[in-house]
Amino acid sequence: MTSAPEIPRSATDVLNRVFGYAAFRGEQREIIEHVIAGGDALVLMPTGGGKSLCYQIPALVRDGVAVVISPLIALMQDQVDALRTLGVRAGFLNSTQDLTERRRVEQAFVAGELDLLYVAPEGLGVPATQRLLDRGRIALFAIDEAHCVSQWGHDFRPDYLNLSMLHERWPDVPRIALTATATSATHGEIAERLDLTGARHFTASFDRPNIQYRIVAKNEPRRQLLDLLRTEHPGDAGIVYCLSRASVEKTAEFLVQNGIPALPYHAGLDARVRAANQSRFLREDGLVMVATIAFGMGIDKPDVRFVAHLDLPKSVEGYYQETGRAGRDGLPSTAWLAYGLQDVVQQRKMIETSEGDFAHRRNLAKHLDAMLALCETVQCRRGQLLAYFGQTGAAACGNCDTCLNPPESWDGTVPAQKLLSTVLRLQRERGQKFGAGQSIDILLGKTTEKVTQFRHHELSVFGIGTELREAEWRGVVRQLLAQGLLAVEGDYGTLVLTDESGSVLRKEHQVMLRREPERAARAPRARTG
Ligand code: ADP
Ligand code: ZN
Repeated sequence: MTSAPEIPRSATDVLNRVFGYAAFRGEQREIIEHVIAGGDALVLMPTGGGKSLCYQIPALVRDGVAVVISPLIALMQDQVDALRTLGVRAGFLNSTQDLTERRRVEQAFVAGELDLLYVAPEGLGVPATQRLLDRGRIALFAIDEAHCVSQWGHDFRPDYLNLSMLHERWPDVPRIALTATATSATHGEIAERLDLTGARHFTASFDRPNIQYRIVAKNEPRRQLLDLLRTEHPGDAGIVYCLSRASVEKTAEFLVQNGIPALPYHAGLDARVRAANQSRFLREDGLVMVATIAFGMGIDKPDVRFVAHLDLPKSVEGYYQETGRAGRDGLPSTAWLAYGLQDVVQQRKMIETSEGDFAHRRNLAKHLDAMLALCETVQCRRGQLLAYFGQTGAAACGNCDTCLNPPESWDGTVPAQKLLSTVLRLQRERGQKFGAGQSIDILLGKTTEKVTQFRHHELSVFGIGTELREAEWRGVVRQLLAQGLLAVEGDYGTLVLTDESGSVLRKEHQVMLRREPERAARAPRARTG
């Protein structure tokens, strides 16, 4: 027998000895073996599924240095530190470094003294970086957060478009692209744009069975949140997402005033404060992070027990990714979203006034519509969520609000007609446009100051809607907006008819609506720990 100079390490060996885990999860083994053997791979796995090992283990088994492309510059240091504590030789190159530091990493790369090198996508476009990579031995390319290549996705990074050059310049180096968010449409787009059409595709189930999905009608969001935290999540760590910086600050203050330890996080805070809050959230127990969506990408905290949204996410992809930060440890967790009429008005307005061409705005509207459909569904939320990601045919899950507390659907055609004809009459007879509040006051026959001022009590529709309460009318308006049967425009969110409104007024269209459960019954479940 000839003596082997170096015993090649097996993937299982590395898993056990370096990472300290007993067994592979899901398809990790197949993916890792495929990449070690030199194959290209496109991996779709939900957040927390264990994507990192899929390239970190091949990095240690294959000869040379694995080059990891990641947009998460702020997290590179953490990722590299975490690997170093395991004895893995890792380094990174990005714009936050000084020249000496950079030179050191470059030398280590060329000398083959690294197992993994993290680089930002913009760095790869620089000829000097490309020449540097030519001087070393590359084990593989890992393209993390690969959905950033999709122009129609929610997280587009132009620098990702250049990554198809990896294959042209280094045709023999295997590539693995990974993402936690991809509908079948973006999936195809990723494969095409990264020149990975010949790659083997690995798609893990997107189901996160331990997460209980709940979407409730928003009336007093902060109170509702406090109620949720006090009754179901006392002492638990969690994330609360708000749309604006101001509401992040206010909500964090509100929680603290009510005895719940909370920290704010948004892009307007000083970088040091942000970093400090993030690291406290990761290290301490039972903190609530109140944040804009600037927070969370790449954050690995296993015991986040709840993710609450006080405002409507812009897309199902975003919602899924954000809620996916709950319960990475597999224990029961809650994804809770409060959503109301104002969310629809505000988001439609943001799309209307957004920069970008018509196609861009239409794309934003499509994303929003899918999110609204999820909010208004009377079917299993999980089923709808999975169907959005191409996993159809799942049975009702028994662990979401619509399964646990089925909402009624009711024929809202008549109220819809009453509301639409109010909008129509204001416009036709008076040449006026008003927001939801005024239209509802008219339907309820309220003689407010504004009603008297505009003589709206003289309209034939005045007081014809007393069969519903105000909150129910708001639900009707919200759902008509969600279904595209009504629209809002302008700075004040005035109601206007759409092309489809006519079919309702002409009685050609039955309008099915969702009746909110009186008070969202608390979901029963066994609490662990
Ligand atoms: P993703 O990048 O898909 O969101 P990570 O790679 O960060 O997920 O992994 C999520 C968590 O699961 C991490 O804490 C990781 O250490 C852990 N993990 C991954 N694979 C395994 C495994 N085979 N056994 C045990 N824990 C694992
Ligand atoms: Zn369900």
